Amino acid sequence: MPIRVGAPKETTPGENRVALVPEVARRLAGLGAEVLLEAGAGSAAHYPDSAYTDARIVADAAALYAAADVILTVQPPTAQAIEAMQSGASVIGFMQPHRDPERITLMQQRNITSYAMELVPRISRAQSMDALSSQAAVAGYRAALMAAELSGRFFPMLTTAAGTIRPAKVVVIGAGVAGLQAIATARRLGAMVEGYDVRAAAREQVESLGAKFIDIAVSAEGSGGYARELTEQEKQQQQDILAKHIAAADAVITTAAIPGRPSPRIIPAAMVEAMKPGAVIIDLAAEGGGNCELTRPGEQFDHQGVIIYGPLNVPSQLAVHASEMYAKNLFNFLAPMITAGELTPDRADEVIAGSTLTHAGEITHEPTRSRIAGDPS
Ligand code: NAD
Repeated sequence: MPIRVGAPKETTPGENRVALVPEVARRLAGLGAEVLLEAGAGSAAHYPDSAYTDARIVADAAALYAAADVILTVQPPTAQAIEAMQSGASVIGFMQPHRDPERITLMQQRNITSYAMELVPRISRAQSMDALSSQAAVAGYRAALMAAELSGRFFPMLTTAAGTIRPAKVVVIGAGVAGLQAIATARRLGAMVEGYDVRAAAREQVESLGAKFIDIAVSAEGSGGYARELTEQEKQQQQDILAKHIAAADAVITTAAIPGRPSPRIIPAAMVEAMKPGAVIIDLAAEGGGNCELTRPGEQFDHQGVIIYGPLNVPSQLAVHASEMYAKNLFNFLAPMITAGELTPDRADEVIAGSTLTHAGEITHEPTRSRIAGDPS
């Protein structure tokens, strides 16, 4: 019997994305899978049920979970969803392995095989499955548009009969996937952009987008291409130099993150208070507490004339393309596991093994397992 792959409607408030788009449904059907979709699952992302010509529309989540062997999700499944899944089913999506230990334990107990898209190793072979990158690119693009929208200034230089307008100065802190997309978008809007990152390798990427790199002479390359936390002395050196650039900026977009750690605090209140009236801070790190000391996650407010906004779940705001990119990441992850319509995952494969969170009644991701077991090491 062919495997049944299904996508439910997301239930997290504010989540507009869907894990399956019509084109991916067609490609899964082409691999011999039977494709199921909960009625209305794509509607918030503007994919009506009628567009899924290769999927069977099921009336509700309970019917979907009862039938599906593989469940595709955006947000981690709720306890109620896990309870409704068949024992032995697989679920692929963002799993936030560092949060809600009860949910992960429930998947373990219910013998659910869960694959966390956050854990897909960042090796070249897995680039097409890299959902962190695809969604970060969406967030970076949107952050630049939010900065332009909230600013009372033009981003481009304008020469008009009423005089010449100078281009806006935009500073982007953190030049990973989101930061580079924010730089590229702000440049396209005509702003003068400066970028900064603690990883020395970011300089070339920032400059290749036509932005200036802010040199702080601190290199904090951690493992796996990520950043490490700075020492107190390095933090001070960073703040001394950044303060001048931030004081001159019309907009600051912050994206700095360290995996598994709260967002690094880079902009203290005093730095905000030295900014120009009407300047804007878009803090994309709000989800992890924020790069700015004053950020209130999910809120937009004015602090002494500076507009601070720490948006949450930004990819959901661009749901059509965020869903398309995400659904393709899921397809690229799942397709190699399907042979002649059957699920045949190679458990020794580095990508599959690395991203498996729970399987066969075990928590297979060691850091999550020891954290839940309360092992301090
Ligand atoms: P991320 O979201 O973890 O962090 C965003 C950026 O913040 C990073 O560039 C990081 O260096 C920077 N940062 C952290 N602390 C900082 C501080 N105190 N001040 C300034 N900047 C700070 O990063 P990401 O976008 O996921 O990318 C991380 C790395 O992974 C990059 O090297 C990226 O090129 C690499 N990457 C590789 C692949 C792949 O090979 N498949 C895919 C995507 C990203």
